[in-house]
Amino acid sequence: MKTAAVIGAGIGGIAASIRLAVKGYEVHVFEANEYPGGKLSTFDVAGASGTYRFDAGPSLFTLPHLVEELFRLAGENPADHFEYLRLPEICRYFWDDGTRLTAWADTHAFAQEVETKLGEPAHRVTSFLKDSAFKYEVTDGLFLHDSLHKAGTWLNRKALRGYLNLPRLGVFGTMNGANKRAFEHPKLVQLFNRYATYNGSDPYQTPALLNIIPHLEYNIGAFFPKQGMVSITNSLVKLAKRQGVRFHFGTPVEEIVVQKGRAVGVKIGKKGERVEGRKAMPPSPASLSSPSSPSSRSSFLPFSRIVSNMDVTPTYRRLMPTQPAPERTLRQPRSSSGLIFYWGIRQTFPELDMHNIFFSNDYRTEFDYLFNKRDRLYEDPTVYVNITSKNKPDDAPPGCENWFILLNAPANEGQDWDAIIAQTRQDVIRKLSRNLGVDVGSLIECEAILDPRTIEARTSSAQGALYGTASNNRFAAFLRHPNFSSRIDNLYFVGGSVHPGGGIPLCLLSAKIATEL
Ligand code: FAD
Repeated sequence: MKTAAVIGAGIGGIAASIRLAVKGYEVHVFEANEYPGGKLSTFDVAGASGTYRFDAGPSLFTLPHLVEELFRLAGENPADHFEYLRLPEICRYFWDDGTRLTAWADTHAFAQEVETKLGEPAHRVTSFLKDSAFKYEVTDGLFLHDSLHKAGTWLNRKALRGYLNLPRLGVFGTMNGANKRAFEHPKLVQLFNRYATYNGSDPYQTPALLNIIPHLEYNIGAFFPKQGMVSITNSLVKLAKRQGVRFHFGTPVEEIVVQKGRAVGVKIGKKGERVEGRKAMPPSPASLSSPSSPSSRSSFLPFSRIVSNMDVTPTYRRLMPTQPAPERTLRQPRSSSGLIFYWGIRQTFPELDMHNIFFSNDYRTEFDYLFNKRDRLYEDPTVYVNITSKNKPDDAPPGCENWFILLNAPANEGQDWDAIIAQTRQDVIRKLSRNLGVDVGSLIECEAILDPRTIEARTSSAQGALYGTASNNRFAAFLRHPNFSSRIDNLYFVGGSVHPGGGIPLCLLSAKIATEL
């Protein structure tokens, strides 16, 4: 029987395991942590009023059909196992001068809101979103479903359509440049520039092609799984198990064994107990795992295919240190990382919805700190507040809310994170208190913190980057590592650090491309 080892139970690894099992492979998933999901996991924090549940990483769910596709592939009805709702409001936006704006899922209502609140004609918003849809349609076929590293991808009809429309795609200018041409009001430019952060990039450098991202939210929809983001992980792990996939938690892979140019198996470290549905511990430096620390008890297991869901940089550096590595690819600048405060808040805020953004007064300087200076966060950062208890009330005790506060942060280069966290915490509390008219600091009854160091340690993501490499130049898409190894047979790659990119939908697509290869 054909056998496959999947290294890592991140969303890309889980999806690959399902696809391989459906193709008839005997699949084993080795996961260093005691729980599945990597960045897409969950944990609880106890507060005086009760227990708060948090999704550890992703909070925005787009393109749910990519999850449903996996159930259908296995002959199951997705609705029997995984439920989600479409959000009527995409996000509430706040500026320090008191301007507040709701991004409604209904694009006409949103365009009207923009006209009323900012004076920007509604038709500009609707035509921007139409253009975003057009860009997405053309590039979805060209970039997202196939390997860019196979000649056939560049010679088919989808590619021809892409070449013919190249000038309209926005490959040559920046996102900020395009948005300044599309809109007059600086707040609206800032709002749409924000979408560069959805793959950890800088709107002042990234190509305008990334203006495909608003299409996902506004034209297709922003969604929320009824049992929290982690139910994407949990329902897919259950599906994988029904397909016969075997998960080995607490089992780091220490080496990919290569003989005569072929990957022939893996060496695994400590064999942990198998843990069903365990949650992650709240983030703290003491609970960090070190997935590939050398072990004297490693054992060799042969496999006919190996799929690495570990970030591609440590896959080469730690699991195959004697093999030639694609240095140019591994040297690409990392995407942004994140600093996350998980707060149990003993009050409810009707003026907040599930997704809320409190914008910086100086976006350009904020990004200068993120991608150029990189020594700390700008003192007036853009603050994202996600509150799942708005739609899933049991995530917080009655009368309370679970606040997930995400700040974009530079990738980890050994900065003094403890000092940065202390300063940024004060800056965030000051900004939120000013905007909401209460002393937010006095309402925090429990807290956990995740920073670029702990993201790196918990998921092996190089420098704690959230989305692999940044897309800050027009060649970035071509510089991502392919979904296969061109030098080592039987070795494949999935997840946020390889083609087509980071974020849940693209990780799911990476599994599709890799297993089709
Ligand atoms: P990862 O989640 O990176 O997991 C890799 C797994 O491999 C880990 O479990 C790790 O323990 C395991 N592993 C590594 N090395 C080994 C080894 N040697 N042996 C065994 N196991 C190993 N995306 C969105 O779509 N929407 C969002 O709103 C969003 N927000 C985000 C917010 C935050 C704070 C973060 C951190 C990420 C966010 N993302 C978001 C990005 C998204 O979470 C990631 O792109 C995606 O989850 C990455 O999945 P992956 O398949 O690359 O695996």
